Amino acid sequence: MGSSNGALGPVAVVGAGLSGLCLAQYLSRAGVDVHVYEKDPGPFVRRQGYRITADEHGLAALRASLPPRLYELVLATGGEPGGHFRFTDERLRDAFKLTFRSTPDGGRQLDRQVLRSSLLVGLDDRVHYGKAAASLRQEDGDELLLEFADDTSVRASLVVGADGIGSALRARIAPGGEPVSAGLAGIYGRTPLEQHGKQVVPDVLRTSGVLALGKAPGRSFFFTSMRFPEPPQAVFDRLAPDHKPPPCDDYVMWGLTLHTAEVPEEIRADPLGLRTLAARLAHGFHPLIARLIDTADDDATVLSRFVVGQRPTTWSLPRATLLGDAVHAMPPFGAHGGNTALQDAALLGRKLLDSQANGTSVAAAVAAYQTEMQRYAFKAVDSAAAMMRRLTTDGIQKWLMMRVLPKLHRVTVPETV
Ligand SMILES: Cc1cc2nc3c(=O)[nH]c(=O)nc-3n(C[C@H](O)[C@H](O)[C@H](O)COP(=O)(O)OP(=O)(O)OC[C@H]3O[C@@H](n4cnc5c(N)ncnc54)[C@H](O)[C@@H]3O)c2cc1C
Repeated sequence: MGSSNGALGPVAVVGAGLSGLCLAQYLSRAGVDVHVYEKDPGPFVRRQGYRITADEHGLAALRASLPPRLYELVLATGGEPGGHFRFTDERLRDAFKLTFRSTPDGGRQLDRQVLRSSLLVGLDDRVHYGKAAASLRQEDGDELLLEFADDTSVRASLVVGADGIGSALRARIAPGGEPVSAGLAGIYGRTPLEQHGKQVVPDVLRTSGVLALGKAPGRSFFFTSMRFPEPPQAVFDRLAPDHKPPPCDDYVMWGLTLHTAEVPEEIRADPLGLRTLAARLAHGFHPLIARLIDTADDDATVLSRFVVGQRPTTWSLPRATLLGDAVHAMPPFGAHGGNTALQDAALLGRKLLDSQANGTSVAAAVAAYQTEMQRYAFKAVDSAAAMMRRLTTDGIQKWLMMRVLPKLHRVTVPETV
């Protein structure tokens, strides 16, 4: 399966997450022989972060990568566009709020599992599960040998590591780019939105993400609702009848930030232990927050450690590259990680197809992608890291947001909720 310098394919993408599937969609649409290798045994074996806020960059990338019908599916299964992001004190009194445009392509909440289901449509025979990439070797000529933990291997003319924060390929493709621990983490949970016939989040926060800053260093509580305008199953029946997303009802996704050292080793993978710790550390926050933690789904609480990606200094293989968290992991402040990952996929897809059209080399397309990607992606990393520092360390900004600004605003959520 050798290839001349300009030929593209076969392409091996490692990781069937957001960026890997988006790139596979882009390339397979253009008739490129692309295959995705995913270490999980199936598409929905883990809860993958529940929902993401797709911004205009993420949506533009999806629009560029997907056939129009699938993009329509993504929009139709997402929350309503527009809304607010509120910074509040512990008692949910507004410090200030950002407002987002309510246009058809404006940012919106997307459930991650449903988005993944949309991204999988049409790729059935191209995604291979139970394939954990272990190593990558340059063979003679342009060919690369991608080896898996199960002792199998495939040859490809381009290998793309889209295997997330713990990337197995990063050290081989971009040595020295290991992300650095931020010393902070989030306990994330998911709570049914509808409880006893009523919505647990009051209507005033219907389309708001909320970040409530706590008094303790590093402490904050984030929550936002995922409301499906129509059951995703029904939208799939209409637009992609051969596929089904996992069952899902409206929910609230929440996260409590803390110092990693505050989480005892023995509960780090224990949902109930994590939820109990979150409830204890959220003492003093608004009663709505206590309620969200107390009524969370039993098995859905997870710990995520925050890391800050480092700019690669070397790209060691001209026909191998990285996308998304594998190269520019960032703490979840500003909601840029997934959007930037999608942006990478669309950019690399475009550069590769342009190179085919212009007769220029795949290696040059990869290099051009890397240069452009590093510019916007590390800007996003820097901004997320700076926002994390400002919001989690005591300083004038946090003091203003917690002690001064909330006193100037009316109560947003009554304490009796
Ligand atoms: C709770 C939470 C909330 C978030 N909210 C937002 C948000 O609102 N907006 C936003 O933009 N971002 C958000 N993010 C960040 C976003 O989820 C990530 O940046 C995004 O998923 C990165 O996409 P990716 O394709 O790089 O990696 P992933 O989506 O993580 O996919 C990586 C894939 O690679 C697979 N894999 C790993 N190792 C191997 C291997 N060795 N071989 C084969 N496969 C492998 C994994 O199983 C996985 O399927 C959030 C993150 C978290 C944790």
